[in-house]
Amino acid sequence: MEILRTAAEITRFAKAAQQAGKVIGLVPTMGALHEGHLTLMRAAKAKCDVVIASVFVNPVQFGPNEDYDAYPRRFEEDCRSLESVGVDAVFHPEPKEMYPEGYGTYINVESDFTRKLCGGQRPGHFRGVATVVTKLMNLSRAQEAFFGQKDAQQVLVIRRFVKDLNLQVNVNMVPIVREESGLARSSRNAYLSEPERAAALVLSRSLRKAENAWKAGETDAESLKKLVREEIQSEPLAEIDYVELYSFDELKEIQEVRGESLLALAVRIGKTRLIDNIIIG
Ligand code: AMP
Repeated sequence: MEILRTAAEITRFAKAAQQAGKVIGLVPTMGALHEGHLTLMRAAKAKCDVVIASVFVNPVQFGPNEDYDAYPRRFEEDCRSLESVGVDAVFHPEPKEMYPEGYGTYINVESDFTRKLCGGQRPGHFRGVATVVTKLMNLSRAQEAFFGQKDAQQVLVIRRFVKDLNLQVNVNMVPIVREESGLARSSRNAYLSEPERAAALVLSRSLRKAENAWKAGETDAESLKKLVREEIQSEPLAEIDYVELYSFDELKEIQEVRGESLLALAVRIGKTRLIDNIIIG
């Protein structure tokens, strides 16, 4: 596996793959890799000739009071994981390589739905994501890019700017990978103490409860959200940031679950903010 650290290095690698007629797949990550990330890598391997992963903790997508400095960084371990699933190259730039002195261009998706869910609570977050993903798509010359349903709103934001800017990249969404306990895998799970980890199971448990109610015939959006809220409130270590149910693909308000709908939540367990979701309907 090649380790690429500069724009010039990834350009050389991507250009050679492109000239050889290869389909290039891109999997952007912030590292501290787990089985969720590796599932994205495998999906990319299955669909593409050459897979480029990126490991970059993108400063631009973190708010001033967020965990940029504390975010786990374990590049050597990440490289071993990436190599074990056959990734061809990893792009691991320094922040100043991506945002050199004088950098001044940002991608702002101004659709209504960017202001909901995490967009409402993390101002500037999706601007940072859209900017870095655009740069990574350009640098990697990827025809296919892979993202997790874990960050479902992020997938919608990315699909929006790819369409709006006529980028020639197909955006693939991969289902959420969970631990056996139901906890969605996340690099931020590393922040949890043992009691917090047990408390964090309330996220997936509450979603399952709503899913079961929906399967049993409950379609009223308020009732489904209430079920989730009540389950989370029964856990003393958990504090709700949001519990929302929107149409999936435009995040429109809904009264009833008819078509595909995204039941999404963000919950603080101690100092750690975790997100999870399911798609029903
Ligand atoms: P991150 O490193 O957290 O920025 O995540 C990089 C990519 O991995 C994003 O597209 C995430 O949605 C995806 N991802 C993270 N956790 C999971 C998971 N548990 N299941 C599926 N995809 C995931």
